Amino acid sequence: MPDDQYKRRVVIVGGGFAGLGCARRLADHDDVHVTLIDRNNYHQFQPLLYQVATSLLAASDIAHSLREVFADQDNVDVKLAEISAVDTATKTVTSTDGETWTGDALVLAAGSQPNFFGTPGAPEYSFPLYSLDNATNLRSRILGLLEQVDRNPRLIERGALNFVIVGGGPTGVEVAGAIADMINMTVPAEYHDFDPGDARIYLVDHGDALLKPFSDKAHAYVAKVLTDRNVQLRLGTGVEEVGPGHARFSDGAVVPTRCVIWGGGISAAPVATNCGLAQGRGGRIDAQPDLTYAGTPGVYVVGDIANIRGTDGEPLPQLGSVALQSGTTAADNILAEFNGKTRNDFAYKDKGIMAMIGRGAAIAEVGKNHHEVHGQLAHMAWLGVHASLMTGTRDKMEAIIDWGWDRFTKTGGPHVLDRGDAAEINWDDDPAVTSSDTPATTPTNS
Ligand SMILES: Cc1cc2nc3c(=O)[nH]c(=O)nc-3n(C[C@H](O)[C@H](O)[C@H](O)COP(=O)(O)OP(=O)(O)OC[C@H]3O[C@@H](n4cnc5c(N)ncnc54)[C@H](O)[C@@H]3O)c2cc1C
Repeated sequence: MPDDQYKRRVVIVGGGFAGLGCARRLADHDDVHVTLIDRNNYHQFQPLLYQVATSLLAASDIAHSLREVFADQDNVDVKLAEISAVDTATKTVTSTDGETWTGDALVLAAGSQPNFFGTPGAPEYSFPLYSLDNATNLRSRILGLLEQVDRNPRLIERGALNFVIVGGGPTGVEVAGAIADMINMTVPAEYHDFDPGDARIYLVDHGDALLKPFSDKAHAYVAKVLTDRNVQLRLGTGVEEVGPGHARFSDGAVVPTRCVIWGGGISAAPVATNCGLAQGRGGRIDAQPDLTYAGTPGVYVVGDIANIRGTDGEPLPQLGSVALQSGTTAADNILAEFNGKTRNDFAYKDKGIMAMIGRGAAIAEVGKNHHEVHGQLAHMAWLGVHASLMTGTRDKMEAIIDWGWDRFTKTGGPHVLDRGDAAEINWDDDPAVTSSDTPATTPTNS
């Protein structure tokens, strides 16, 4: 269709689960033109970032070209741009390099960013796990540490094998379990000049249980699986400061470490503050039940950037399924507006929640009655669900081959160090731990 033949134009900011869900639904309508804008030209599958960080999957397995998704749809244009300003009155967005896009409808789906809760040093020295760049950066740090310790095992005394993971939600639990599997199984086979038993993995959380949304039985199960794999749980404890070579806990302990992983929380993407829209909990933009902003026709907020409520009025969690379904409902409401029909309220269909803990161990809460399964069965369900949610067939096949290979060989993926900056470590840059070769206060194993 010639460009001027489209009856209506929709601008979507963000090609994550929410933006993609919205664009896909609109793409089926030939008279609607969609401009999908993202600062990356790919969709990243966040639930599997920790597997890239721990070398189980390749980065290309979890990133899918947005252009490829819409290659057969002439009415969808993908634009690579970072949006820095939003004018909801004119439904116009402006990029950092000054280009503007205006639509008859505007969808804000720019996701989240890590929330460091003002912890000193955390933004500079910790490793968040929110984007593909974060995941490859963390992988470089983990592999860089292993290579350096292999040449100089005395670095272990300076915390080179201490991993501190902040946050006992799914991100923290999954990454702690994956690092433990790596240290217990893969590293001993590949590194022969140091003892992986000297590694210490700390999982730190303010609360009194891991994976809070699950049952007490699940809390006990996850704690047992992780402690059996030598993860030290520090519940009721916070990380109060991060330095280049240490983490300070709220109980006063100072752990020498070159790898603090931040899974401590998220807030709305920075663009939320540039919209001039009222921000609520977590800096997120409050969505009306029909996903519009303050009932403004044609302006929608969906996915992690928005505070979305369920039909019971309770806030919905920041989940891929909420993002995807809210994107699709926003598209339906945009089409309803274009056709002079009434917008519908968003009704989230909760299909359950699941979390991976490590090899052969997961928790899944599924079905109407939230039936909970643990162990191998949940592990297989987790793999199946995540493979089915991945965007491209090739990505699914590659991930399934990698998972199958790891399951039977227990070798993980290739430990290929790509020499990013994170692999370079200055061992003398932290006064808290460099005064001697002896470690600072390290909590005892529990
Ligand atoms: C480590 C981790 C593990 C998770 N595990 C699970 C899980 O197991 N199950 C589950 O359901 N959920 C999980 N989640 C949550 C889930 O991934 C999110 O809820 C979901 O990705 C939100 O989708 P979204 O589209 O709102 O945002 P995102 O997926 O974050 O997408 C936002 C997009 O907007 C783009 N963007 C941001 N700012 C701009 C800008 N200014 N200009 C242009 N583009 C911009 C970004 O590049 C990105 O592509 C996990 C999240 C993380 C971080």
